[in-house]
Amino acid sequence: MPACQTRPVSDRESPAICAAKGCRAAAIWAVVWNNPKLHAPDREKVWVACDEHKQPLADHLAVRSFLKRVEPLRAAD
Ligand SMILES: [Zn+2]
Repeated sequence: MPACQTRPVSDRESPAICAAKGCRAAAIWAVVWNNPKLHAPDREKVWVACDEHKQPLADHLAVRSFLKRVEPLRAAD
């Protein structure tokens, strides 16, 4: 079977994929952030990340003071 076909994306059934550019790894971390210039203070944006990209994404947000927390990504049940 072809190995490099694009799989259909389903929010419900596919595992979350890392938000880092070009990364197709399964995400296991949720990087929670908020841009106070764009979002209400209680609004939470989430980037999901693989183990490799959790830190770079968190750092990217932290230097802008957008980072709220990083937590393990749990599948909704
Ligand atoms: Zn990644």
